[in-house]
Amino acid sequence: MIWPWLLSGAAAAGWFSIKYAWWRGTVDWRQPRVLMYHMISAPRRGARYNGMRVSPEMFERQLIWLRDNEFKFVTLSELAIAKPGGKLVALTFDDGYADNLLNALPLLKKYQARATLYLVAVRDDTDWSAKKKAHHDSGELVREPKLTDEQVRAMLDSGCIELGAHTLTHANLPKRDEQQRRAEIRDSKLRLEQLFGVKVSSFAYPFGIWEQKDRDLVAESGFTTAVTTDAGIDPLPFPDPLAIKRVKVSGKEGFRSFLLRIRTGQRGAWK
Ligand SMILES: [Zn+2]
Repeated sequence: MIWPWLLSGAAAAGWFSIKYAWWRGTVDWRQPRVLMYHMISAPRRGARYNGMRVSPEMFERQLIWLRDNEFKFVTLSELAIAKPGGKLVALTFDDGYADNLLNALPLLKKYQARATLYLVAVRDDTDWSAKKKAHHDSGELVREPKLTDEQVRAMLDSGCIELGAHTLTHANLPKRDEQQRRAEIRDSKLRLEQLFGVKVSSFAYPFGIWEQKDRDLVAESGFTTAVTTDAGIDPLPFPDPLAIKRVKVSGKEGFRSFLLRIRTGQRGAWK
């Protein structure tokens, strides 16, 4: 009987096609990939935010793939002035979790990779998840260890990290009045620059939520680049350097899904 075999083969091919979206076009490899990470740590059983936890093993596999495929690691400020051509990748870490130092930095050093860290200026006792929707408040992210200022200094001293701003308190910007927005955006830059003695020229919108007014404040505050959570891969020079798309790297997905995302900028039909 060949029919059952054919049917199961067709079903498997269909499943594979939908999951990995092979028909989706590859974005020109000369367009830089800006990858978005949060934590580099093992997933926790039953945790809500495991999508934000990429395991160190998976992160290393991704770095090896990028190295073997001749990507050059750049920071956002370098991307802002980069010429098209070559294969460029900018790794970005949002928020400022302690595992970025403990788990990510050793791997960045090992593969001579570099990254931009979008650091929330005030990291103590804040549950960032709760700021978007109150019912998301599970306390999970408030319990997650954050980078201390000393740890941030260690990261900067490594030479692998560019510092970017991510507001003072991980604010949902459109929910704030103009004065608060200005403080969140401009003062986060000033505060980080003063505290760490480095230039902070890139910004990341918390939750990827922003409107035109926020973009204007980002420009007014002197940032030259800003990243969103919109999925995609922009060309160079950036169509809008203050609204750069990123490729999300999810801890809930396997390596093939990472390859799909880095090729197309989009996730598969399902996770
Ligand atoms: Zn964030």
